[in-house]
Order: sequence, then structure tokens, then C-alpha cells
Amino acid sequence: GFKCGIVGLPNVGKSTIFNALTSAGAESANYPFCTIEPNVGIVSVPDPRLDALAEIVNPQKVLPTTLEFVDIAGLVKGASKGEGLGNQFLGHIRKVDAIAHIVRCFEDDNVVHVDGSVDPIRDVEVIQTELNLADLDSVERRIQRSEKQARSGDKKLQAEIAVLQKVRTALDLGLPARKAELDDEERLLLNELQLITARPVLYVANVGEGDLEGRHPFVARLKEQAAAEGAELIVICGRIEAEVAELGGEDKAEFLQELGLAESGLDRMIRAGYDLLGLITYFTAGVKEVRAWTISRGTRAPGAAGVIHTDFEKGFIRAEVIAFADFVRSRGEQGAREKGLMRLEGKDYVVQDGDVMHFRFNV
Ligand code: GDP
Repeated sequence: GFKCGIVGLPNVGKSTIFNALTSAGAESANYPFCTIEPNVGIVSVPDPRLDALAEIVNPQKVLPTTLEFVDIAGLVKGASKGEGLGNQFLGHIRKVDAIAHIVRCFEDDNVVHVDGSVDPIRDVEVIQTELNLADLDSVERRIQRSEKQARSGDKKLQAEIAVLQKVRTALDLGLPARKAELDDEERLLLNELQLITARPVLYVANVGEGDLEGRHPFVARLKEQAAAEGAELIVICGRIEAEVAELGGEDKAEFLQELGLAESGLDRMIRAGYDLLGLITYFTAGVKEVRAWTISRGTRAPGAAGVIHTDFEKGFIRAEVIAFADFVRSRGEQGAREKGLMRLEGKDYVVQDGDVMHFRFNV
């Protein structure tokens, strides 16, 4: 599955948000380093289109698609040099596909800040510096190793060294690896290097209970910083999300309405994570189950079929496809067929977000 890592300094609200996200109930305490083991949680991706499909098809089951969140603890100033939990966080963070960076924007004298005061820009820089140093370290070691091996004249290794050197230049300037000047081919090589700062980042401003709209100047500054990096920022209040997460159905809707929110911050965060990972959703809509499936944008029909079962991919013949809007407008598959809105697509078809798919395959 696709993984989104949650990072941030201690006491910024990572565990609070992670627990609310997964309702995992792991401990959240008011001191640094409380989450020692990385917590992995699988969350449902909210999608109102599923309800619309279910209303038409009347299935026995409705299954949303999921996304994994990993709460990564131990990132403090000096972590790349062994402070705090030291390098432990590195192994976990290298395995994620995208990063949600939680930044403390709430003031609360009862919650200790590791640096004594709340300052989102400084905090972001501390984390960025640690991640940068960690990558620099692994890039340098890699260059040394590759240079030794490259004496044999391997073309791919030469290309890799060239990429590593460009990445080192960026890191030396304090830029993340994703900002290195690389062409498309080099970018493919970069993806193989498992560098932390090559991953896309989403900023999450954790604001105080009294500032749900993020009016605090901290948030404005953070927004500027995110915009300068071309990154997205969402504003949520961890404490309130924790309360929302405990409510269900109508109570939840009512509470959100009282707060003047259209949807929970967590739902926004999950969808932002999904977008950040370049993921889209297609549906299968049968009477047994209506279900959402996750693929990377640009996936062709056989690859999409393979998410359901590898046999679907191996024996792929064709797909019957109805766009979500057509499916709803025609009140289901039969109606869409009659209106000529069902398409037959072959193995080169690039699946679109919202497609309702039915696969034909050989067994
Ligand atoms: P972590 O170390 O980043 O995982 O931080 P925690 O989630 O454990 O939170 C540290 C402390 O900050 C806990 O006492 C939380 O209750 C508190 N906290 C988290 N989010 C908020 C918030 O939005 N407002 C306030 N006032 N406190 C919060």
C-alpha cells in the first residue's frame, strides 16, 4: 500500500493527530519521545461518490479504499547526528512515499516546547535541516561506494554518480533533493535512491482550539513558506480532531456544523495525502459490493485490474468503463449501456479518476 509518514518535532501534536486519524488509541503524553515504536495506521479514504454509487446499486457491502499513515517519532535537532532517538527514525522514514509535516501553531503553556517557544518557521527549518543532513550523509556514502564500483565502466553507475553529485549540490545549498536540477531520466534514477527529501511534502498547521480558521500570524508565515516551496498547507486543530474522531454519524455532522466546518480536518488531511501521492480512485460496482480502489495516476487498465487480483492483470482482455458522472446520470450500468455511455477499453487505456470498471479476463 501507499504510505504517508507523519513527521514533526516532539510535542507538536503528531500522536494526537495520528491517533485521531486511526483511532488507534496509542498513548499521547506531554513529554518528548513518547512515541518510540513507529505506529502504522490504515485509514479509510472518505469519498462521497461511494454513497452515490451505493444508493443506485444497493449492494450488500460498501468498501472504501485505504491509505497508510506512519507516525514517525524521534526527529529532534541533532537527530541525524544521534541526538534523541538518533538515527532510528531514518529507517522508518525511508519507507514512506510522502511526508505530512506537522507544525505546532498552537500556544499552550501546559505543553512544553522543546525549544522553549512556539515558532513554526524555526521548527520547520530544524526538521528540514535534519532530513537534509541525513540525505547528505547517505548521498556521500553512496558516491564513494559507486565511484569504487564504477571503475569497471558500468554506464548505469556513471549515470547514478552524476545524479548523486547534482543532488549533493542541492543538499549543500540547503535545498531538498526534490529541488535538484534533473532531467526526466535522472529523476527516475533519483526515485530509486530512497532519499527522504525527494519525497513530496504536505504541511499541516496544528492550530489552537480557538483558531480553527488559522488566523494566527504563525499560520500566515507558514503558508508563505509552503507556497515558496510549492507545497500544500492544511490547517487543523489536533485537540478538536481527537474529539471529532470519537463521534460517529449524525453526532459528528452536528458537531462539525456547530464549529462551522464542512468536513473534519482529518478527512481533508487524508485526501491531501492521497493527492500528494499522485493517487486516484476507480470503482467496481456490483450487487455484492461497491468498492473503491487506489491506483497511481497514469496507470493503464491491466495495471488497475492487477490491484484487484494478479490474475485479472495476467489474463486481461478488456475493460468495460463508465465514467462516474455517466453512471449516476443513467442510474446504473443498464441505463449507461442503453445510452451508449459504456465504453470498451483495451490494454492501453489510461484509467481516469472515478471510472466505474468491469474487467474481462481469461483464466
Ligand atoms: P507529539 O510529541 O508530536 O506526538 O505530540 P502529542 O500529540 O503527544 O501532543 C503533545 C501535547 O500537546 C499533548 O498534551 C496534546 O494534548 C497537546 N496538543 C496536541 N494538539 C493540540 C492542540 O491542537 N491544542 C492544544 N492546546 N494542545 C494540543
